[in-house]
Amino acid sequence: MSKGDTAANTLQQHLQQLSDAFALRLQEELPALGQSAERLLQTADPQEQVQQLQSLRDQLHKLAGTAGTFGFSSLGQRARELELDADQWLHTLQQEQQGLQAFSHSLQLLAKQEFQSDPKQMPAPQKAPLTKPMQSTRRIYILEDQLAIGENMRQTLNNFGYQAEHFSRIAELDAALQQQLPDALIVDVNLPDESLTGLQYAAGLQERLAEPLPLLVITTQNDFATHLEAVRVGAMGFFTKPVDIPQLENRLERCFSQQQGEPYRVLVIDDDRELASRFSLILRGANMRVEMLYEPAEIFARMRDFNPEVILLDVNMPDCTGPELAQIIRMNDEWLRVPIIYLSAETDINRQMSALIKAGDDFVTKPISDNALVAAVFSRAQRARLLSNALSRDSLTGLLKHADIKEQAAVELERALRSGKPASVGMLDIDFFKKVNDNYGHAAGDNVIRALANLLRQRLRRIDSLGRYGGEEFLVVLPDCTAEQAWGVLDEIRQRFAELTFIASGSEFSVTLSAGVASTADTSNSASELLEKADQALYAAKHGGRNQVR
Ligand code: GH3
Ligand code: MG
Ligand code: MG
Repeated sequence: MSKGDTAANTLQQHLQQLSDAFALRLQEELPALGQSAERLLQTADPQEQVQQLQSLRDQLHKLAGTAGTFGFSSLGQRARELELDADQWLHTLQQEQQGLQAFSHSLQLLAKQEFQSDPKQMPAPQKAPLTKPMQSTRRIYILEDQLAIGENMRQTLNNFGYQAEHFSRIAELDAALQQQLPDALIVDVNLPDESLTGLQYAAGLQERLAEPLPLLVITTQNDFATHLEAVRVGAMGFFTKPVDIPQLENRLERCFSQQQGEPYRVLVIDDDRELASRFSLILRGANMRVEMLYEPAEIFARMRDFNPEVILLDVNMPDCTGPELAQIIRMNDEWLRVPIIYLSAETDINRQMSALIKAGDDFVTKPISDNALVAAVFSRAQRARLLSNALSRDSLTGLLKHADIKEQAAVELERALRSGKPASVGMLDIDFFKKVNDNYGHAAGDNVIRALANLLRQRLRRIDSLGRYGGEEFLVVLPDCTAEQAWGVLDEIRQRFAELTFIASGSEFSVTLSAGVASTADTSNSASELLEKADQALYAAKHGGRNQVR
């Protein structure tokens, strides 16, 4: 049995347990419902009847949503019909005593009936994303028949820290592909000397591969038909010549970060614990990280600790309704980016709209199929992450911006100080960067900044945080790392950076950097003190002759 099968079986077992628990709950809830229905008939006072009917309608509403979700679809449907009936009776309560009797009767019947759970339909197990071992250098193949363009692209990408190779003929590329697959492929569309266009070639190649390669297209044809053809062969980027290579590199990075993305974080808020458990099992089965919240009052702490990317929110909860909680969340600027999806048995479009107008982004109606739930959450999470990255990351380097890296540094250092493990910070600054701009132009300067950002990204660990602190200044936070170790890491980066060759306006040049390191072992107080220390060390490195780490 494969690993995927075992996981699917375990999920199925959990789902069955939840369904069983729900069946148990029904054994109490249905008779209670029946008793309420009987009481309704015995009540003479119209006002009391209205109250009882309202409570019955609410119970039916809840039952309609939960029963279907747990696989009791006929019960769910019946409850929904009765809920609508209850609503009508509420309006015509006084006049229609007779009909009310019939209604009570159907409810009592429902309470006595035996219901079977529907046969389980499992969602197809999601293929686990293929995670590659962290490589230090990404391999990029370029197919471009014009030698000058291809070579320039190869050199520039190599400067950015990739291992790029250029091929002017399909046969050469094919031979290289036999040897080793790249991490991404860049193809030119027009290849006059070949029998295939670059896109036709790429289409055939993608079909032969078990896992499609990230593909970028470069072309002089900026028309709709070519865009469409590119999308159909799975292209993730489209660039017209002359190609802005930093922009192309930016797109490459985005492809890679999507590939090795972390699981999406989803917060499920529902006072019905079994329902919440069921939703989270389904979402976990689709490789998401899920936490549940039953107490709306705990929302602040949970938002801070878990930092969800999507919130699934029940509409009807006893102490605080979904729309009220959504409004509370929306009062905080930090959480504006998090999509809120209402999960509700509410099918009345007007009531859905009035909830959405207060706050929240979307409605998903219970009962919902497992696949529909996964799709609804996944698509919102994907978009939220893309947007959030675009907002908090610097557009030139893709790194965290000043405020965000500073905040992250504070959080990491607090944690280190509490745990007693050492943590280090490094402040890096490019040497004589003004001269790069003056001699080779601002665009060349931008390339240097991006190259350093890439180098840092490739050399640091996943747990390290990294941000662009200022124009040509970077801040790294290295948890669980002594000052000596941090010095070693940064000095290696310094050497590698000095070895990079840049090309601009026909001439080659290289650039150096200086860095300062401070560790929690030296200062036991605050994050700001530590940043100050690192800054002083950087200053010393500059004055000590630059191209060094202090
Ligand atoms: P030092 O070795 O003392 O650090 O000298 P420096 O020239 O690197 O330092 P200085 O702080 O005097 O100059 C930094 C320059 O970086 C000034 C600014 O125009 C340039 N710069 C800041 N941000 C960017 C950017 O995003 N792109 C480019 N191309 N240049 C930038
Ligand atoms: Mg500088
Ligand atoms: Mg500077």
